[in-house]
Amino acid sequence: MQVQGLNALSDNYIWIITQQKNIWVVDPGESQPLLKLIKQNQWQLQGILLTHHHWDHTHGVEDLLAEFPQARVYAGHLTNKTYITDSLKQGDKIQVGGETLNVLETPGHTLDHIAYFNDQVLFCGDTLFAGGCGRVFEGTAEQMTESLLKLRAIEADVWVYCGHEYTLANMNFAVIAEPDNTDIRARRDQVRADTQVNKPCVPSKLLTEKHTNPFLHFDQTPLSVNIAQHCGQGSPKMAPPKLFAELRAWKDALDATGELDE
Ligand SMILES: [Zn+2]
Repeated sequence: MQVQGLNALSDNYIWIITQQKNIWVVDPGESQPLLKLIKQNQWQLQGILLTHHHWDHTHGVEDLLAEFPQARVYAGHLTNKTYITDSLKQGDKIQVGGETLNVLETPGHTLDHIAYFNDQVLFCGDTLFAGGCGRVFEGTAEQMTESLLKLRAIEADVWVYCGHEYTLANMNFAVIAEPDNTDIRARRDQVRADTQVNKPCVPSKLLTEKHTNPFLHFDQTPLSVNIAQHCGQGSPKMAPPKLFAELRAWKDALDATGELDE
């Protein structure tokens, strides 16, 4: 599957799947840079894949449909937008660029959130980020934990196309959460170097995320022990949703200070 990225808004990514002149776009948060690129390349927009309802992932849809009224619009069955043509549930499959994408329901960041994947790619919106995960705005820690573990259960080492470039702050937090993990430290240093020269850190590989993203192994030692210590619980035998919630709260507190951004 051919995928290219387009920077949008302040730190969003719009993903463009191309098959010769046909394209499908994931989470078009704005339309103008995309329509310009479509014109330049004489592309035909066949479909729009939405991961969730947030403005910064959907704001470009109506402008795109004005130009390409025949394009399909895919979204989760809980996404409430009148332009959706295909409401998707866990286990549904869609045909995109000559390939099949599977649908996973991944509530937590929002209740309507879904992800799309096959054995090469994962489009995970604001559920999983490179080095981190989305904030829990609408769902519960239990839902977000289950959603992240669903993504971890994908066996293929897929390319992870997430919705934002937050990788440096995420890896700075990962080093704090797991100071003795040399793989995390090496990735943080690489991400810092890439960020300094404006090189995107997304997509990443899922295997890299499994090893170096704390939000994909909060239930495993030594991270689970570090989380328990950080929140003042003597025993690391906390249930995964509790471990997730404490890890997320730990990062939220540091995010608020701004110190993770450099
Ligand atoms: Zn969002």
